[in-house]
Amino acid sequence: MASVQIRGIQKAFGSTQVIRGVDIDIPDGQFAVLVGPSGCGKSTLLRMLAGLEEITDGEIAIDGRVVNNVQPKERDIAMVFQNYALYPHMTVRDNMAFSLMLAKVDKSAIAERVKRAADILGLGELLERYPRQLSGGQRQRVAMGRAIVRNPQVFLFDEPLSNLDAKLRVQMRAEIKELHQRLKTTSVYVTHDQIEAMTMADQIVVMRDGRVEQRGRPLDLYDNPANLFVAGFIGSPA
Ligand code: ADP
Ligand code: MG
Repeated sequence: MASVQIRGIQKAFGSTQVIRGVDIDIPDGQFAVLVGPSGCGKSTLLRMLAGLEEITDGEIAIDGRVVNNVQPKERDIAMVFQNYALYPHMTVRDNMAFSLMLAKVDKSAIAERVKRAADILGLGELLERYPRQLSGGQRQRVAMGRAIVRNPQVFLFDEPLSNLDAKLRVQMRAEIKELHQRLKTTSVYVTHDQIEAMTMADQIVVMRDGRVEQRGRPLDLYDNPANLFVAGFIGSPA
């Protein structure tokens, strides 16, 4: 587990300011959900947490350590994307092993970590298959497996369920929460689905136009939305 502190973060692409001073505190082991309309800066914020996007101003600290200048692979973070980004020409096993091979983790440790992830996700029987031979839910599990094998302290999810049908989405929500609890990670989960946010979050962060409108526990936001925008997003009749 690790706490995440986001302090005064700004991001500009050229002269376009897309993150306008964001502060978020995520305690050890918390499941935080970022919600907000398309284009409000959720993915950009996650990518800055992952180290995939330079920070224009402000500070990100993980477990108390400022990571602004720390390379992605040294951040103890793993990210799961919406489109899975699986390697089509690799088996499930190799998809999960690949980043560890690049990191020169030794073979027996790779085998052990892949086996553990496969057991956790119920992928044991599918290790020799290729992504095209999997269902949407199975592919999503492989994407999670690739994150798990890295033993991250922090999991980042960018709308991981938005390509799945409604029934599977409900099931995968529960699986992701279970995973978060079992692995004792801290998670930052992006969605534009307010039901997902209400059911999964310990803390909801409502974003609009590069800023945080309000953050708090789901019921607190529901009972006391700061404004109509938050009320509309959380679904309260305020
Ligand atoms: P969200 O994930 O909430 O939908 P994003 O973080 O993807 O929003 O995007 C926030 C804003 O930043 C959008 O207006 C988007 O067009 C812009 N943006 C994102 N990435 C880039 C980039 N690489 N170059 C220029 N603008 C970008
Ligand atoms: Mg996005």
